[in-house]
Order: sequence, then structure tokens, then C-alpha cells
Amino acid sequence: MPLAANNPDRISWLHVGKNSDFPIQNIPFGVFLTRDDIITIGTRIGDTAIDLGALHQLGYFEGIPLTDDIFLQDTLNDFIADGRKTWRLVRNRIAEIFDKNNTTLQSNKKHKEIVLFRLDEIEMQLPVQIGDFTDFYASREHATNVGTMFRGKENALMPNWLHLPVGYHGRSSSIIPSGIPIHRPQGQTIPPDSDTPVFGPSKLVDFELEMAFITTDANDLGESIPIEEAEEYIFGLVLLNDWSARDIQKWEYVPLGPFLAKNFASSISPWIVTLDALESFRVTSPKPLKSQLPYLQYKGKKSFDINLEMAIQPKNAKEKVVCKSNFKYMYWNMAQQLTHHTVNGCPVNSGDMMGSGTISGPTPDSYGSMLELTWRGENPIKMKDGTERKFINDYDTVIMRGHCENDDVRIGFGEVSTQLLPVFKPKKKK
Ligand code: CA
Repeated sequence: MPLAANNPDRISWLHVGKNSDFPIQNIPFGVFLTRDDIITIGTRIGDTAIDLGALHQLGYFEGIPLTDDIFLQDTLNDFIADGRKTWRLVRNRIAEIFDKNNTTLQSNKKHKEIVLFRLDEIEMQLPVQIGDFTDFYASREHATNVGTMFRGKENALMPNWLHLPVGYHGRSSSIIPSGIPIHRPQGQTIPPDSDTPVFGPSKLVDFELEMAFITTDANDLGESIPIEEAEEYIFGLVLLNDWSARDIQKWEYVPLGPFLAKNFASSISPWIVTLDALESFRVTSPKPLKSQLPYLQYKGKKSFDINLEMAIQPKNAKEKVVCKSNFKYMYWNMAQQLTHHTVNGCPVNSGDMMGSGTISGPTPDSYGSMLELTWRGENPIKMKDGTERKFINDYDTVIMRGHCENDDVRIGFGEVSTQLLPVFKPKKKK
């Protein structure tokens, strides 16, 4: 099916600002609460949110096989489970409805009042109910940097790293959309030169610059997905800031890997940008340094050129961009990750989320965490208000942004913004 929605020449009758992440060629999917307190599935063009539930009820998706309530839900899981053919029909139809040459909705004032919202009239929710969250460790630069710090240069990359996309199973209960503040976690840490742990607030709270892909129902128990089919099961991507407490991590991670240092919060951007919308931003993945087993070998361009940045905004001060990276630096691409994940027959369901792992680039200003940017705190970063950061301070807001751009079009993700509050204090009972 042609991706008519991607036509770079199409112009919308809705206003789209020059540097908007959301031109009519994007058509992402999200879930929002409307001014009438109704939850609905929607999309966005420019700074206008569009209620797809209302559009469907008004008959604008006629001819596309959709159940009546597919968009009147509080998650995208069922729509995603309908599969790639349906996603494409719906995106193409939305592009037609909002094309400036189409006057049907454009000239229907009553319908427009029902369907269109300003961004300040809505509240974005988590787009999917995330059943399972897997986080990979797919950037060679990041794995090398962290390995060097924890184990020394000689043993930076573990012997398995160049042979398989290393990953672990995370928690979905603490995944939150942009705008929800979090508390500094507490836990066990080991003081330097001591063999006895202490309990208290983490002193080394960090961000991790990542992206994550959202899957559809992919396979049954026991079945594996061949690499050439893997992308069919990827609905789209979001920005992911995978909060990490480095001091807790350092003590607890042996031998089973990340646990409480990672599962207190993971923030995602609320609009899922479809893999289809990113089609013209495909690039070649980094060349394998060691030959990979046949089930992980792929053809074609499986990486995407997505500019990513992370900023820190201290309380009552201007933000400072501390890192600029790119999704294309990932050594293991999404098709390899999904294939590897199912090679043993592990089922992947609609609404599962798979994180890339921190994406660090080759230069020190492209490192995707404070751990690497300040090299364990040895080189603090100066904020615009003159204060310094080794890690994240209480009341700092961490903002991640991402977009693709070529001569024709800019497709973006908006942002994921999260404020770090002090340790949670239970209210005193009266
Ligand atoms: Ca992570």
C-alpha cells in the first residue's frame, strides 16, 4: 500500500508553524483528555489536536474496516493490534481529510468545533497500556564508556556484546508520560572504601537519552520472527528518558543487572510517531565489527536519522542543552532487537515497549547520560545560571527532544519533560 500520507508536497488547511514537529506528513497517534473530560484517541497537526473518536463517529473513516469504538478508548492497544494495513489506511485518510484541497471538514464549522482542540484544552496521557517493557543496551559508544568506568578499558565491552543485542526486562508500572514529576529515589548504596551499605536518597540521579519502539501483536508462544519481517510489527517510536540512580545501580547490579536503580521512573513522549512516517529518514546502521549469526543478518537500511537532544532546566532559570546525539548511532537496530527478543519463542504483544538503551555518539558532547558527559562527575557542566551539575539536582527539569529533517519535511516527536522533586515524604496522619 502506498504511503500517500507521506507526500511531502501536501499542505494542510490547519496552520503548521515553520519548525513544527507535526506537519501533515507526521500524523502521530496519542491519547488525550479533552476539555469535556472525555478520554479519546487522537492525532496532531501543527498545534491542533484532532479527536479521532469524534471523526470516526461523524463518518470520516467510512470504508475502512474499524470497529465503532476503536478510537473511543483510553489506550491505542486495540488500534495497534489491527495491524499495519489498518494504520496505513487511517493515516492516509487523515492526510486526505486535512489536505487543503479537501473542503469536506474544512467548511463544516459544526464538525470542526467537535473534532479540533487547542493544545491547552487537552491533557496528554500514556498512549498505550504497556504490558512489557524491555530495555536494550544497543549503543556501542555508551556500553564502551560505562564499561570503561566500571571495569576498565580492557574489559569495557563484555565478550557477548558484539554478538547479540544485550537487554533486560524492565518494569512498565513506572512508565509515565511527559509532564509528570518524579521523586528522587532512596535505596542502598555503598560508600567508597566501605564494605557495608547505607540507606538514603540517591546522590547520583541521572537521565538516559533513549528512544523506544511500540510493537503490535507479533508472535505466539514458541514462534520466532524472522528478521526480514520484524519491522512489520513495529507501530512507531517515542522519546524515552530512562531515569537511573547511578549509586544504587553500582551496588545492586551484580550479578543479575539493573533493578531498583532503573525502575523508579521512565518518561516517554506522548505522541507515537509511526515507523511509516519515518520512512524517508532511513540510513545504514553502523558496520558490524564482528560477523553476526545468520538470524541477526539483515538487508537494507534499518536505522533512522533522528536528531536527539537533552536539556537541563534548573528551577527559575533558563535551560541548557547538555547533549546532542542521534538514533542512527545505535549498533543494534530495532529489527535485530525484535528478532533477537523472539528467537527463543518469547511472545511480543500489542503495546509492548522496547527501549534502545542510552544512545551515545562518538564525541563527548553526544554522550547520552550525565555519567558519561561529566565522566562520573569529574567534569561538571556549567548551567546558564552559573551553577554546576554533575548529576541531576532536586527541582531540575530534564527535557528531551527529537526530530528528523531533510529538504522536504521535518518529522518530530515533540518533547518529554520531567521535573525531579526531592525524596517523597509521606503526609503525617492526623
Ligand atoms: Ca536504560
